[in-house]
Amino acid sequence: MAAIIDPPIATRARIDGARLWDSLMTLARIGATPKGGVRRLALTELDGQGRDRVVGWLRDAGCDIRVDAIGNVFATRAGRTGAPAVAIGSHVDTQPSGGKFDGNYGVLSGLEVVRTLADAGIVTERPVTVAIWTNEEGTRFTPVMMGSGVYAGAFTLEHCLAQRDRDGVSVGDALAAIGYAGRDAAPRFHAYFEPHIEQGPILEREGFTIGAVSGALGQRWFDVTVTGQDAHAGPTPIEMRRDALLAASRLVLEVRAIACAHPDDARGTVGQMYVSPNSRNVIPGRVEFSVDFRNAAAGTLDAMCEALARAAERVAAEDGVQVDLREVVHFPPCAFDPALVAGVEAGARALGHPVRRISSGAGHDAVYVARTCPTAMIFVPCADGISHNEIESAQPEHLAAGADVLLRSVLEVAGA
Ligand SMILES: [Zn+2]
Repeated sequence: MAAIIDPPIATRARIDGARLWDSLMTLARIGATPKGGVRRLALTELDGQGRDRVVGWLRDAGCDIRVDAIGNVFATRAGRTGAPAVAIGSHVDTQPSGGKFDGNYGVLSGLEVVRTLADAGIVTERPVTVAIWTNEEGTRFTPVMMGSGVYAGAFTLEHCLAQRDRDGVSVGDALAAIGYAGRDAAPRFHAYFEPHIEQGPILEREGFTIGAVSGALGQRWFDVTVTGQDAHAGPTPIEMRRDALLAASRLVLEVRAIACAHPDDARGTVGQMYVSPNSRNVIPGRVEFSVDFRNAAAGTLDAMCEALARAAERVAAEDGVQVDLREVVHFPPCAFDPALVAGVEAGARALGHPVRRISSGAGHDAVYVARTCPTAMIFVPCADGISHNEIESAQPEHLAAGADVLLRSVLEVAGA
């Protein structure tokens, strides 16, 4: 008969789902909207209040607080050694009509992990840091993912501090106004985890509680301009027209066909279109529209863009128009650390939560942090896959499951 051995406390430890839910709901009161959402734009007074609340909780849980020059907050619970920390993070700024969970869940599940370690008296080998990244949403100030981008060296600090909102207020002044123009050096991490709601419909539809995120889709965005000839809708016969909107419409269908023809998480979207002169009895002479292509594999993403260029040439020749493609955004695909992703997956299985691998279709702070240290994300389902919306919703038991997987993954990497 096998000896019965008590599993070590680190494997038995569980987060407190009710406490996690309570902190999510309490934070959501700051900037609460009438329809049940949250409006806490980056570096506003409300963002300052939200940060103060979370920082207070982290300090009460025994963390040492540091703030860097772009306002990223690093709350660290000491380990047995001073080795680089295992970090957990996300953001607490929201969209103008945002929800309670996007970003906030990642930060508050980090808080919940720290609280659980404190309650259980667990001392990890490496320190554990909870990071709050500045201006992830990019609504008030561009670029998006500003704080993590500066941290990873994607943008310079000076460039970001000088960005202004529509009222002319700079990032630097807004940081000072809410008390988060810090002077501490940003620490380097041993590993980084970011829990997040999926913001898509896959986990919910397929009945999974946990997504072990293998990486983030690469993105290539284009501005497309189609130039034809404005002409009167009455006297101009169909075969003699150079209709820019007709050609643009054919290209919209091509974008979808290209996405459908390429494997593995290919996406193709036209979300903006400007028709000129936009008059009901004038054949449109000029149309500008956007194309957003995404794929997990860089080679496939490039092939999609080449297919669009060929389609543009063909449509231009057939319709007697000129088509110009201009690339405006290029994010390469980001693969997360295979060992950490496998650890998340194994942790979910060990805890009895249905888990699948998934790609992130959206950008996250983790995509930039991954340039500096091994990184993984943990997704949990959200209702109907909806986010960036006041009706954004997630199940308390799913949020708790994600935080338990997080705790287990952090303990495995930090050592206990
Ligand atoms: Zn987010």
